[in-house]
Amino acid sequence: MNKKVVILGAGISGLTTAWLLKKKGFDVTVLEKNKEAGGAMESIVEDGYLFDRGPNSGLETVPIIKEVVNDIGLSNEMVYANEKGDKRYILRNGELHPLPMSPPAFLKTKLFSAKAKMRLFAEPFISRSNDGYYQSIAQFVKRRLGQEFLDYAINPFVAGVYAGNPEDLSVASAFPKLYELEEKYGGLIIGTVRSIRERKKRKEQSKQNAKMFSFVNGMQSLPKTIAKKLGERVVLFAEINSIVKKEKGFSVSYHNAGFDKKIECDILLSTLPAYVASTLLRNIDGNLANHLDAIYHPPVMVLYLGYKNEDIGRPLDGFGFLIPAKEKKSFLGAIWSSVLFPKRAPENTASFTLFIGGSRNAEIFKLDKEIILKTVIEEFQSIMKISVEPVYKSYRYWNKAIPQYNIGYIEHERYFDEFERNNPGIFLSGNYRGGISVGDCFKNAELVTEKIFKYSESNNGGK
Ligand SMILES: Cc1cc2nc3c(=O)[nH]c(=O)nc-3n(C[C@H](O)[C@H](O)[C@H](O)COP(=O)(O)OP(=O)(O)OC[C@H]3O[C@@H](n4cnc5c(N)ncnc54)[C@H](O)[C@@H]3O)c2cc1C
Repeated sequence: MNKKVVILGAGISGLTTAWLLKKKGFDVTVLEKNKEAGGAMESIVEDGYLFDRGPNSGLETVPIIKEVVNDIGLSNEMVYANEKGDKRYILRNGELHPLPMSPPAFLKTKLFSAKAKMRLFAEPFISRSNDGYYQSIAQFVKRRLGQEFLDYAINPFVAGVYAGNPEDLSVASAFPKLYELEEKYGGLIIGTVRSIRERKKRKEQSKQNAKMFSFVNGMQSLPKTIAKKLGERVVLFAEINSIVKKEKGFSVSYHNAGFDKKIECDILLSTLPAYVASTLLRNIDGNLANHLDAIYHPPVMVLYLGYKNEDIGRPLDGFGFLIPAKEKKSFLGAIWSSVLFPKRAPENTASFTLFIGGSRNAEIFKLDKEIILKTVIEEFQSIMKISVEPVYKSYRYWNKAIPQYNIGYIEHERYFDEFERNNPGIFLSGNYRGGISVGDCFKNAELVTEKIFKYSESNNGGK
């Protein structure tokens, strides 16, 4: 496999695919505009605080994650979340309630009213909707489980995963496993039981049961180490400015270290964010660019706060908490970072990661940043029973954070397939296709590696 593959973008999608293709014998080059590899994975250390400014952790949903970590020699730095982190809280009426994780806990919890609990018993008898792909997660959950479950379980959960709005997100595209439970088995309860058996056979972990991982020095260790192992195959400070489809293969122009450069290849893989890929691929297919442009990426601010342990008025016995929209707060939730993983904060202090904005509350960024920070910190301190200012504060504003798989996303997904069929040799990957999580990026890297391998093997691969 000595075909030349150029991969655009050195986020986790691009680097994992580069690693897998290199192992199969392809000649790969990864072009990345930033000075470091990682994309959304950014970890910084300041005053003894380790701040993961993008993903805080990943879920070990597919075996390929551990395989790559072992391959690159990073397994001794891989850490799993503290078991205390199993407890997740939801805010209701100003109080944090643990999310019930067992049937007895569910019956006892004050998070849901008796009426909402009774409503769950009706779930197995509810039929499918005729809306198929064109349903939001809100419509789906309201129909199957009722309004209160939507407000106090799914709404905060969606904020935690997508920084998203349940009224807009497509259940089929954003939560395909949930959608499948209804489609394939007729209901969520029966479907959960059956799919556990099937997943065991495929050696996959459900997101609920998968182990949560990070690295001693933060999530960015993973892409940085893959990049280091790939050596000269990864070109940093390489901003791509045009792509030309030739009779045979492709030509990619980029700006690197003050010079305009060009690289030719047989196979091109874009793992660029959708809004960047749209500009660079418009000359090849205008419709593709329109689909990519239509994907909404709301802004998100990630705020990291440090406090002395003695100033925190409630026990830190969990993962953190999520806030339902109904509670009308200025932020989406907080992860108790130093509880989950080691070395996140200096001795005798604790650190917290708060998320602000997302598509649920993008409007907040019309306010002055200082006002946003003051309001959020006041609200956080009231929930956590803290009455002093933080000893450490840092934030990262993501103007376009996470792609929203909104209703109608299926049209984009279908067009991505069509584009690949019409343009043999170009492949599209990245977090706007096949899932946004770190685990999904790994799963998709494996899929796209397989696609490239097959394409390259086929006699009429256009070469
Ligand atoms: C704030 C935040 C929190 C998150 N939290 C979690 C979490 O806790 N758990 C989880 O599983 N997932 C989380 N995610 C999602 C997950 O981190 C991302 O979906 C994933 O890292 C995306 O990886 P990627 O490689 O597909 O894209 P990216 O990381 O965006 O990589 C694309 C790369 O392309 C490069 N690029 C862009 N333009 C050019 C150009 N013109 N030329 C060359 N290179 C270019 C970029 O610099 C970047 O390195 C979070 C995301 C964000 C933003």
